Parts: sequence; C-alpha cells; structure tokens
Amino acid sequence: RTFEALGLSSALLRTLETSGYTIPTPIQEQAIPLVLAGHDVLGAAQTGTGKTAAFGLPMLQRLSKETPPKGPRKPRALVLVPTRELAVQVADSLKEYGRHLRMNVTTIFGGAGMQPQIDNLRRGVDILVACPGRLLDHMDAGHAKLDAVEVLVLDEADRMLDMGFLPQMKRIMGRVPKQRQTLLFSATFEARIKALALEYMQSPKQVEV
Ligand code: AMP
Repeated sequence: RTFEALGLSSALLRTLETSGYTIPTPIQEQAIPLVLAGHDVLGAAQTGTGKTAAFGLPMLQRLSKETPPKGPRKPRALVLVPTRELAVQVADSLKEYGRHLRMNVTTIFGGAGMQPQIDNLRRGVDILVACPGRLLDHMDAGHAKLDAVEVLVLDEADRMLDMGFLPQMKRIMGRVPKQRQTLLFSATFEARIKALALEYMQSPKQVEV
C-alpha cells in the first residue's frame, strides 16, 4: 500500500516524499482512511509507530479542505497531550506535515510564561497542541476559545490518566462542540480507556498495532 492509495491529497504526498516517508506504517495504513472518512478512531499504538502522522495527516487534509471562518482564527483542531516534551514533538511534526498548507500550529504547556502563549493565541491558531492544566488556565482567563474545534485528539490518553488529568480532560471536553471528530490514542485498550471512549466518542472504529 502507498500513501496515495490511502486517499491523501497531492500537497501532503509531496511533503511525505521530501520527508522520505515512502511506506505507511501499520497504524497509518489502518487509521488514515478511517479518519479521512470522518470516523471517530480509537487507536492502540505506542510512540514510535508513526501515530502522529496517522492522525496528523488526515486531520491536516480535513482542515485544509475547509475555508476557515472569517475573523481571527480560533483552533479548529485540539490535540491534548500529557507532557510538554510531547507537545513540542507533536507540534513540530504537524508543522512539518502541514508545511505546504498554511496552518498555524501553537503549543500550550505549563512551566513556561503565559504571555507568549497568549500572544500566539491572539495571532490566530488552526491547530492547538496543549497540556490539559495550562489549557484550562487559558480557557478560564478567556484567552483560549474552543467553540470552533472540529477535531479533538487525545494523544497518549493512558499517560494523561496516569498523571491524574481526568478531571481537566473532562472539563475541556465539556467545552468543545459535541459535533466533532474525536481521535484517541493509547498504548492499550484498558478498561478506563474504553470508558472514556464510551462517554466521549461516537461509534469509534478501533485500530490496533
Ligand atoms: P511517532 O510514533 O509519531 O512518534 O513517529 C515515530 C517516528 O517515525 C518519527 O520520527 C516520524 O518522523 C517517523 N515516521 C512516521 N511515519 C513514517 C513513515 N511512514 N515512514 C518513515 N518514517 C516515519
């Protein structure tokens, strides 16, 4: 199978070629067509399997197909991650994959100044990659508005639960539109992940590698 056969656009195929990605990884092969078709996807995959591109490429394609609403750009995709390191890594990958698509990608995490993050939010964001705690701070202060979110990704959801982020995740998920696509990645499909999926996802398709 090729990336082309999975239904990706020529702009993304061009990027993949220059990045040296020739063959989709198993998680990409399974997840990309499902995400492009608009399904909620529950994926069991560890870091290193190519899961960032598995959700990132079809998400970028969806966002780039639609004209962003007029006015300052509010996030249309929100990627929740457990740590600052993962936030930076995921944002870097999304910037690379979206480099031909004019997508603004911004990170939000604790342990860094609020003001530069506020400035970035004001400038307009298409994709927000955030740790739950600091995102809530920005939401409570009125800096981050999530009413335009169409795609919600929970990346390394099991680690977010391990770190005690469930209450924050619930508050955030209560503030994004119900009408959305939700993608959840975890190392395993353990009971608490299934419970999360049951409550916050709509008929999710499961993929496992
Ligand atoms: P991830 O699991 O998303 O952290 O990705 C692990 C690593 O694999 C990253 O360095 C990616 O750049 C790389 N990668 C992802 N997909 C592919 C692919 N299809 N071909 C080659 N490298 C890839």
